[in-house]
Amino acid sequence: MNRINLLDQKLANQIAAGEVVERPASIVKELIENSLDARANKITVEVEQGGVKLIRIQDDGSGILKQDLALALHRHATSKIKKIGDLENINSLGFRGEALASISSVSRVSLLSKAREGEYDAGWQIDVEGNIAHKSLVPVSHAEGTTIEVRDLFFNTPARRKFLKKERTEFSRIDEIIKRLALSRFDVHVSLRHNQKIIYNLLPAKSDSEKQRRVGLLCGSKFVENSILIDTERAGLKLWGWVGLATFSRSQGDLQYFYVNGRSVKDKLVTHAVKQAYRDVLFHGRHPAYVLFLELDPSLVDVNVHPTKHEVRFRDSRFVHDFLFSSLYKSLSEVTPGDQLETSKELNQLNSAFDLPQKMNESNDGRFNQSALSLVDGERNFLESSDKSDDFSTAENQRTDVPPLGYAVAQLHGVFILAQNDQGLVIVDTHAAHERITYERMKRALADEGLKTQTLLVPISIALSHTEVDYAEDNKTALLELGLEIERVSDEVLVVRKVPALLRDSDIEQLVRDVISDLIKFGTTDLISSKQDDLISTMACHGSVRANRQLTIQEMNALLRDMETTERSGQCNHGRPTWVFKSLAELDKLFLRGR
Ligand code: ADP
Ligand code: MG
Repeated sequence: MNRINLLDQKLANQIAAGEVVERPASIVKELIENSLDARANKITVEVEQGGVKLIRIQDDGSGILKQDLALALHRHATSKIKKIGDLENINSLGFRGEALASISSVSRVSLLSKAREGEYDAGWQIDVEGNIAHKSLVPVSHAEGTTIEVRDLFFNTPARRKFLKKERTEFSRIDEIIKRLALSRFDVHVSLRHNQKIIYNLLPAKSDSEKQRRVGLLCGSKFVENSILIDTERAGLKLWGWVGLATFSRSQGDLQYFYVNGRSVKDKLVTHAVKQAYRDVLFHGRHPAYVLFLELDPSLVDVNVHPTKHEVRFRDSRFVHDFLFSSLYKSLSEVTPGDQLETSKELNQLNSAFDLPQKMNESNDGRFNQSALSLVDGERNFLESSDKSDDFSTAENQRTDVPPLGYAVAQLHGVFILAQNDQGLVIVDTHAAHERITYERMKRALADEGLKTQTLLVPISIALSHTEVDYAEDNKTALLELGLEIERVSDEVLVVRKVPALLRDSDIEQLVRDVISDLIKFGTTDLISSKQDDLISTMACHGSVRANRQLTIQEMNALLRDMETTERSGQCNHGRPTWVFKSLAELDKLFLRGR
């Protein structure tokens, strides 16, 4: 017979630590959040050996009173809530009172603090080693604020130590956490050192250009160069930030930062709305890059659904989805070649305005390279240059009589148009550009015509769940607007009588299932229009100028002018860039001129 034991506190804490302390990065997250909760203006992070040997975080926050210092390390000890009602109005990042207890149960912790309200003492220190039972306070000299040192992670739980990854991997996770937090609080000075090397030292960013600078240091200047600024407001919702151009897409969704009222979220509804906004311009299988901030009345959103899973619950999710989608879609479609050249100009001016870089070392992935305009990311790797000395900002280059994409000078192998604008060379992929223009025209024509539907000769019946059929029946009109006429024939069966004419040959059953599931989840769906767009896109592709067709100079110029006025003309329908640009300065460099 197995008898029941009451676990001692040490073991209970070690078990609980499994939830909070997964790896060094999770410790860094908890500790920075504590510093932010203490209203720190400056947070200094030092890490050794990927955080396994040492994590030291110092802040200038409110500090901890001498008499609370030992208590802070206890489980369920928190200054952030007192009663159940407080849970409904949480303004802090933490509130469970578990982090310090968990961290100190699996490492060697020193906590040093001087409270802002403290009386005469210079500060106090407490040391804990995997066990909160042995501890005593020692007076130390410490500035107002708190320092916490975490050494030898998992020294007493070897089984968990084995799960740690290589130093570089653990460090990159820490780096990611700090990025995420540093982007959420432009007003806080954040610095990071790894193995005594300064990785960044981000001064508080107040003005727009300082914020842009911080985003550039954290996400790479190429991201900033290849993104558009967005700042819109509707009915109490505000969305601002940086939206990467479709041509700056990535193979992973690793440059996606979304904040709701300053809190980092990875929410399904948000991701869906953003993805939908990029639908028409993104290369298949690629991921957009963005740093976006949504602000709304806190009572319209519940941020504590999943404190660790980064999910939120909006009171009016459909409205939020629509706002996100339409704001992003609109700004992405309005990007013209002229804007793209403009962003690069501004950035070059901005970069030369900061003489003292805040960045102290170069990282291997070249994140900190100041590069001139490049319309593709490193993977495709052409037309990249890595200097900031472009002469975009000189007055004589501000002439406006030459159109952004310039005038054609020649056609290369029947494939590329070479054109000259007032700043350098523009190279256009003729087929890709033509395809986008045709596609946008066909879409517009379709929109003007209205949605054509077709009655099916043999109605299709589809078995669904009771809830789904209920939903479809209640939303018959909405479905009809999408071109789908449905009727309930039993509790769990629908028949489809009419479908959008363009889609009559597609898998109707799957389409209807997906549409209903989207509608239930997000209150909206873009499946019908995206399917139609796919079809039109294929048609546009076949109808467009094929390689090896000679164009006259007039035809080429006409295409350039069309591109300047066509929405989303910077990418073909498959998300590839339609044109690239080389400034005279870049061309000079190719020939080592001026050195
Ligand atoms: P929680 O953050 O959920 O309250 P923690 O275990 O992270 O729980 O911290 C326990 C308490 O210790 C906090 O409520 C806070 O009062 C205090 N504390 C922790 N870190 C700091 C800090 N950097 N500055 C001031 N107080 C801190
Ligand atoms: Mg905490």
